[in-house]
Amino acid sequence: MFWEQSLQFDSCTDIGLRRRNNEDAYCVQQCPSARDWEVAGHLLMVADGMGGHAVGELASRIAAETVPHTFLKTDLQDPRKRLHAAIVAANSAIHARGTQNSDFLHMGTTCTALVLCPRGAIVGHVGDSRAYRIRKDRVDQLTFDHSLEWELERQHGSLEGILDLTQHKNVITRSLGPEEVVDVDIEGPFPVQPGDQFLLCTDGVSNQLTDSELGAIVRELPPRVAARLVVHLANIRGGPDNSTVVVAQVGDLPANVPLPPPLVIPDDRPDLGWSWLIGFWALGMSIVFELAVLWTSRNDQSKQIIGGVLFAFSVAGMLALAYAAIKRRQQLRHRDDDATGAHFIRPHRTAVGLSSKQLLDLLQQVDKEVARSAREDGWSVPWEEHDRTVTAAQRAAREKRHSKGIRDLARAIELVMEQLPRRAD
Ligand code: CA
Repeated sequence: MFWEQSLQFDSCTDIGLRRRNNEDAYCVQQCPSARDWEVAGHLLMVADGMGGHAVGELASRIAAETVPHTFLKTDLQDPRKRLHAAIVAANSAIHARGTQNSDFLHMGTTCTALVLCPRGAIVGHVGDSRAYRIRKDRVDQLTFDHSLEWELERQHGSLEGILDLTQHKNVITRSLGPEEVVDVDIEGPFPVQPGDQFLLCTDGVSNQLTDSELGAIVRELPPRVAARLVVHLANIRGGPDNSTVVVAQVGDLPANVPLPPPLVIPDDRPDLGWSWLIGFWALGMSIVFELAVLWTSRNDQSKQIIGGVLFAFSVAGMLALAYAAIKRRQQLRHRDDDATGAHFIRPHRTAVGLSSKQLLDLLQQVDKEVARSAREDGWSVPWEEHDRTVTAAQRAAREKRHSKGIRDLARAIELVMEQLPRRAD
């Protein structure tokens, strides 16, 4: 990524419909100068606090203040190390606060931070909040959920028959604050191209919207509209939790900056290279040769012994080489290589965004249902403007101008959801 590239971003956080506090927090820190750009970069993050009463709120707020501050101030030159140091500092600050007061004991928060810097996108992550990269139709989850569900799936390959996850959906296995020491995932750099979009969110969003829906919304709408629509949809689907989202869009390169070389994404079954094939061939030939020696020297015991030992060595060598090749292939599968030869970690999960037509149909359905119940319950929605916007969306849909229709429907849903009645207490 280049300093000259613009970054458009927006964010939205909402308490939801069932919680008394908003325990989520977020921050967006744009890199202040070209000098800082070389060693730091833009930083976006979300945090989802836990611990009951106002405790979770405090934990996520400390994270959202400490991480950007430390990230910019530390002397480390490598953005990966900076990000790691910043998240570790937030853990220490929350842990120290937790031990000062027995009411704050065990308070914690998730923390998912994204750095956009010259080397690409780097993710620092603890907990089950998420970071996605959206590139056209492709939605890559760049973070591993530190949840019981994901950890068990990693250990067992599948969750079938292990446990009823409906009871354990919200159990997270790692967070900032409860322990003095925290294990932080630092991932990337992931390659960044002009037009790439990034979305960070808490589980109040990812439990209510699919990756395909999130990808399509971010692809079709400007960051501000996308962030608000995501939160509205989480609330329309019950709003059981706080919802927080940060959306960023990387702009095009100015004309005077040379374009980076195109990305070469390796095959899913990466080639091991000629040297490995030559190794297999040489060992295979020696096994054939030794079998021939054993066959032709059936009456010569000393030759039989030498041939037998060599044969055993060759077979053992072949097995060791096969094992090393399998390991190597597994390593290669977890990396993206770009044309400059730099290596990148692969995303944890990839989905395909809904098509424009699918998103348009979905939003039409959502608007119809939410408008009907808002009318029934007498919300003070500016209905004239709403209905006019929906009519425009219907016309756009008939004319197959899907993106225009999506923008109209996002506006119509917003007009209704702005009047959402909130609990009084
Ligand atoms: Ca949450």
